[in-house]
Amino acid sequence: TTPIYYDDDADVSTLDDETVAVLGYGSQGHAHALNLHESDVDVVVGLREDSSSRSAAEADGLTVETPAEAVSQASYISVLVPDTVQASVYENAIEPNLEAGDTLQFAHGLNIHYNQITPPEDVDVTMVAPKSPGHLVRRNYENDEGTPGLLAIYQDTTGDAEERALAYAKAIGCTRAGVIETTFQEEVESDLFGEQAVLCGGVTALVKHGYEALVDAGYSPEIAYFECLNELKLIVDLMYEGGNMEMWNSVSDTAEYGGLTRGDRIVDDSVRENMDEVLEEVQNGEFAREWILENQAGRPTYSQLRQAEQNHEIEDVGARLRELFAWADEDEDEETEDESV
Ligand code: NDP
Ligand code: MG
Ligand code: MG
Repeated sequence: TTPIYYDDDADVSTLDDETVAVLGYGSQGHAHALNLHESDVDVVVGLREDSSSRSAAEADGLTVETPAEAVSQASYISVLVPDTVQASVYENAIEPNLEAGDTLQFAHGLNIHYNQITPPEDVDVTMVAPKSPGHLVRRNYENDEGTPGLLAIYQDTTGDAEERALAYAKAIGCTRAGVIETTFQEEVESDLFGEQAVLCGGVTALVKHGYEALVDAGYSPEIAYFECLNELKLIVDLMYEGGNMEMWNSVSDTAEYGGLTRGDRIVDDSVRENMDEVLEEVQNGEFAREWILENQAGRPTYSQLRQAEQNHEIEDVGARLRELFAWADEDEDEETEDESV
C-alpha cells in the first residue's frame, strides 16, 4: 500500500542549518513562506525587482531578494512561480546559482516530467504538493489544522532528499493531515487528467449542457441555473463527506432511482472513450506540447475560449442571482444583529 506520512515521521529541525528560498509569493508561495517562517525555518522569498507581490511579502515580515540572490543564499529552493514561467526562471535565476547538494523542489511536476527543466545530477529534486489552494494551506496552518499533500522524490543525490522533503512538508502543515508518497509522473498525469476530464473541464461541460437542455426546452434560465449549477455544491458536499453513498442516502428515493437509471445514459461509454483519449494525450506529452506552444504564441486559443466561457448566458444569469442571494444573506445578518442587541 502507498505510504502516508504524519507529523511523527518528520522532523523540522532537519532544516535547522538551511535557508529555504521560496520563489514566488502567490497562492502557494505566500502560504509556504509564512508557514515555514512560523515553523522557525529560515526563509528568503525570491521575487523580481518590480514584482507586485514584493510589498505583501515585506509587510508580512519576510526577507525578499531577487530570485537569483535568493537561490544563491539558499540550499533548499522551492519553486512556486506559475508553471508556465518556471522554465525561464530556472534558466535565468536558478540554474546559475545552484550548488551541489541543494534541493530543488516543486509543488507540481509538470516542468520536470515533460523535460522543460533538466536539473544537474548533483542536486536533489523533490515535490511537496499540498492538495489545496494556497489560502487554505495558510488558513489551516493558522488554525492548527493540516492540509493533505503529496510527496515525491525525482532525484536523490544527498541520500537525505526524503527526510528533508518531509521536514518541509511538516513545516507547512501537511504532515498534520497526511502526506501520500507518489512519483512525478503519477502526480502530473493524474492531476492533468483529473482537472481536464472531471473537475474543471468535465463538470463545467456537464453543467452547461444541462442548463442549455432545460432553457432550450422552454424552462426559465433562473430555474435552470439553480438546478444545474447552484445545487451542484450541495451534492458535492455530501460526496466529499461520505462518498457517493452518502449522497444517494441523502437525496430522495425518487432522485436516487432516477439518477441510478439515467446517469450512465448521460455519461455513457462514449464519454469514457473520450476520457481515455484525453488521458492518452496527457501520457504521450501531446497536451504538454500544445500548452507550451500556446504560451509561446501568446495564448490565442486560451484567450478566445475564456471569452466564450465569459459570454455564456449562464454567467449573466448566475451573477444576477448571486447578487439576490447576497441581499438575502445581508438581511438575515441584520435580523440576527437586531435580535442580539
Ligand atoms: P501563482 O500564479 O499564484 O504565482 C504568482 C507568483 O509568482 C507571484 O508572486 C508572482 O510575482 C510570481 N511570478 C510570476 N511570474 C514570475 C517570474 N517570471 N519571475 C518571478 N516571479 C514570478 O502560482 P501558484 O501558487 O498558483 O502556483 C505555484 C506552483 O504551485 C505551481 O507549480 C502550481 O502548479 C502549484 N500548485 C498550485 C496550487 C494552487 O492552488 N494554486 C495547488 C497545488 C500546486 P509577480 O508579481 O512578480 O508576477
Ligand atoms: Mg489537481
Ligand atoms: Mg493542476
